[in-house]
Amino acid sequence: MTMKYQTKFLERIERTPASVSYRFRRPKGFNFTAGQYMLVDLGEELVHPLSLSDCPEETEFIEFTKRMTGSPYCRRLESLKKGEAIIVKGAAGKFYCEESDNTLVLIAGGIGITPLRSILKSLEKKKGALCTVILIYGNLNREDIAFRTELESLKLPDYRLVHVLSDTTNMENAYQGFISADILTKEVPESRNAHYMISGPPVMVEAIKKALATINVAEERIRTDVFFGYD
Ligand SMILES: Cc1cc2nc3c(=O)[nH]c(=O)nc-3n(C[C@H](O)[C@H](O)[C@H](O)COP(=O)(O)OP(=O)(O)OC[C@H]3O[C@@H](n4cnc5c(N)ncnc54)[C@H](O)[C@@H]3O)c2cc1C
Repeated sequence: MTMKYQTKFLERIERTPASVSYRFRRPKGFNFTAGQYMLVDLGEELVHPLSLSDCPEETEFIEFTKRMTGSPYCRRLESLKKGEAIIVKGAAGKFYCEESDNTLVLIAGGIGITPLRSILKSLEKKKGALCTVILIYGNLNREDIAFRTELESLKLPDYRLVHVLSDTTNMENAYQGFISADILTKEVPESRNAHYMISGPPVMVEAIKKALATINVAEERIRTDVFFGYD
């Protein structure tokens, strides 16, 4: 059964010019696994599923990060006053990471980074993930990379971040273009034995699934989190 909680707005943190994190008091009894989402009800029939972008080990607050689109939902978010109450339902979803010895490949398209950031922060805090972890992160340009500094300096024993940008201005060591079968083959050793978690808009998730099929990665090695509501 999905649980319903009232919580209070604490603060907003701008992650990029187009994405903002909103933090709320962590309701008593609210538990989640890194990678899950909640239904965030702002009243006035404005309800969206949003992934938790913080990790369960950060116990003071809960946080989601929204791509700002100018929608009524975003406008309502921007109007929240400190201490104002909203309702969250959850947590829900099966997009979480199971420990394994195989390489773990996390693939994010833009704001799809949110559940993966939660998973990575959680692994760092738990000092888990003894396997190789590769984050392949696609964005428009350098300014559009949410959580960049933090993701570049994560302390995991065997971790690598691969940036893929449409525009690579001021970004050394980034691939130019979209995440492709070619990049996956170059960056993931023994790609057929790795486990994959893909998160992002529907078009991006489908494109990556097709790319993985062309390099013979079995479907049961792939988990997806599809952010419906984006083109
Ligand atoms: C499991 C899950 C996790 C998500 N996590 C995040 C996150 O962490 N950050 C983030 O920015 N977004 C996330 N999303 C997407 C988010 O729920 C919104 O759909 C999206 O942000 C668009 O909302 P908007 O207010 O910008 O635009 P809107 O104007 O509300 O929506 C744009 C268009 O998409 C349609 N639409 C909106 N929501 C949905 C939906 N859930 N299913 C199908 N159609 C829809 C609307 O009818 C409209 O036509 C997630 C979605 C899912 C399913």
